[in-house]
Amino acid sequence: MERDRDRGLADEVTRAFRVVIAGAAAVALILAGSLIWLVAFAQPRSSDAGRAVTLSNDLQGALLNEESAIRAYLVAPDPILLVTFRTAQARVAADEHGLVTLSNAIPRSRLDALVAADRRWQTGWVAQAEAPATRSSIKAANGELRLGPLAAFISSGRASFTAVTESQRAVLAAATVAQSRERRTDVILLAVVFAVLLMIGAGVAVTTLRRRNQLRVRVVAPIDLLLEKVRAVGRGEFGAAPMMTAPAELLELRDELSNMSGSLRLQQEALASRAADVSASNRRLKMVLAFAREVSETPTLARSLAVVATAARRFAEAPRARVWLVEEGGRSLTLQHDSITGELVPFTSRSIGYGGLGQAAQTHRVCLCDGLAGETEPAVMRSTALAVPMLKGPRLVGVIEILLLPGVTEPKPELIELLEAMAAQAATAIDAALMYALTESLSLSDPLTGLANRRQLDRDLMLEIERSARHARPLSFFMLDIDHFKRVNDTFGHAVGDAVLVEVAHLLAEQMRAGDTVYRYGGEEFAVLARDTDSHGAVVVAERLRRVVEQRYATKAKGDLSVTISVGIAELGAALDTADLIVAAADAALYAAKRNGRNRVEVAGRITEVRKMPRVTLAT
Ligand code: GH3
Ligand code: MG
Ligand code: MG
Repeated sequence: MERDRDRGLADEVTRAFRVVIAGAAAVALILAGSLIWLVAFAQPRSSDAGRAVTLSNDLQGALLNEESAIRAYLVAPDPILLVTFRTAQARVAADEHGLVTLSNAIPRSRLDALVAADRRWQTGWVAQAEAPATRSSIKAANGELRLGPLAAFISSGRASFTAVTESQRAVLAAATVAQSRERRTDVILLAVVFAVLLMIGAGVAVTTLRRRNQLRVRVVAPIDLLLEKVRAVGRGEFGAAPMMTAPAELLELRDELSNMSGSLRLQQEALASRAADVSASNRRLKMVLAFAREVSETPTLARSLAVVATAARRFAEAPRARVWLVEEGGRSLTLQHDSITGELVPFTSRSIGYGGLGQAAQTHRVCLCDGLAGETEPAVMRSTALAVPMLKGPRLVGVIEILLLPGVTEPKPELIELLEAMAAQAATAIDAALMYALTESLSLSDPLTGLANRRQLDRDLMLEIERSARHARPLSFFMLDIDHFKRVNDTFGHAVGDAVLVEVAHLLAEQMRAGDTVYRYGGEEFAVLARDTDSHGAVVVAERLRRVVEQRYATKAKGDLSVTISVGIAELGAALDTADLIVAAADAALYAAKRNGRNRVEVAGRITEVRKMPRVTLAT
């Protein structure tokens, strides 16, 4: 505020007008002074010279009147003429007196000479003219004039009168000179005043023009620049304020404008970055929503895991992601999916609390790890991985493990936020998939023996018939029934009967090849689906089953529990091409086995080779 206060805008304007005001004041002063001078001094003095001229002229007339009257009186001494003479004489005296009082305008010596000449004429000649002796000398006794003496007397006064009139003319000349000198002085004075006024006016005009230019450079131009700057700010251009030389107020205005522009730029940048944040978080939200939709529409657990791993990889722009699920009991995690190897991951587990992965599972927080758990490949070990817990409310469902690109060690907070949101959705979806799988497996399995139940059999049978027919592969179906099971119940009670059912179920399941399935068909009846097996192979398998059961209980002492099974086999064929037909055929074969003595295997249809087997007969 204090900076260059004396160069302020008000000062600029004051300076600009100071000269004008000073000039106007000087003009007024000079004019007033001139006026006062003219009124107070010049006017009376010029009238002195004028009056002197007038008096001189008047004196001339009075002198002539005086002389004429005295001459006439000499010729005719009439008292009237003497009165005229006296009047003229008084006028001469008055004029002379008046001239003496104007001695400032006329040299005193001339006046003195005039008065002296007049005196000489008056005393030397006029006084004689009035004297009686003079009159008697020029007038005869008869009253006639003596012209000779008269002319002689008149001419005797001529010289002294001429001296008076000459003195009077000299005075008139001096008065005239004085008058013209005064007039010249006045003209010069007026010219000087006019010249001074002109110079002051010119000076004021020049200074005013210069000030106007200075105002234009120092005030108008900076204001234009500031105006342009304000317009630029209005257009959203927040550049630096222009450099300028200007009064302090305008410089302050420039600085404040600069500050305002700077703070507007900052605000605009903040707004832009907030808008970018909002749009980024909107984008993330959309990604999470799209992921949530995709994963919730995924029916199976395996597919859900794949979707989660793919999304995690995409979100983190990472080369690899794995999904771990909490084991039953909640002590460890089992690797369920690897984005590189797919669904087929070898059985791998990690204790909760152990390593970065275990820490994430334990603390329910995202952890940074060195490489992937259990991976020893150097490139993987050098990279950073993220372990993101999948939480359904307070419950841990599993952990998503994401291998970041080489060199990425500190993932952005937004990414962590995104992955956490995504992991929450994944947890819900995976939990639902697990629940669904559990429910389904419960509905498709037998609670007592743990074997697949008849509902599962119905599904599998349909699928397998279709698959085998399409690929022209053989398919065999067994029906198994425990012989005289009622007796077991009756003799040892239902609990033992149940235990026998469970044991037989396990014996059967143990004997089956991978790809074959044992079902509890109902009561003490079982079924087997032997894939890629024709009736010859089926007989071999069935016989083995029969023998294993028989042998399991044959070692018991007499009177102890004895358990055997009867088996009926049907093979998929032209006549048996539906589930109902195959089941009915196998059932018929089973009945045949019962009828034929139990603890034996029967095949639906004609199989010659089975005849070689002593305990196997053909069902009819
Ligand atoms: P067969 O040799 O003709 O098959 O004679 P069986 O006694 O085995 O046949 P039957 O159909 O007369 O009797 C089957 C018995 O199996 C009747 C039933 O009490 C018993 N049973 C069926 N389901 C269960 C079960 O879940 N537990 C127990 N303990 N017994 C069962
Ligand atoms: Mg039965
Ligand atoms: Mg039975």
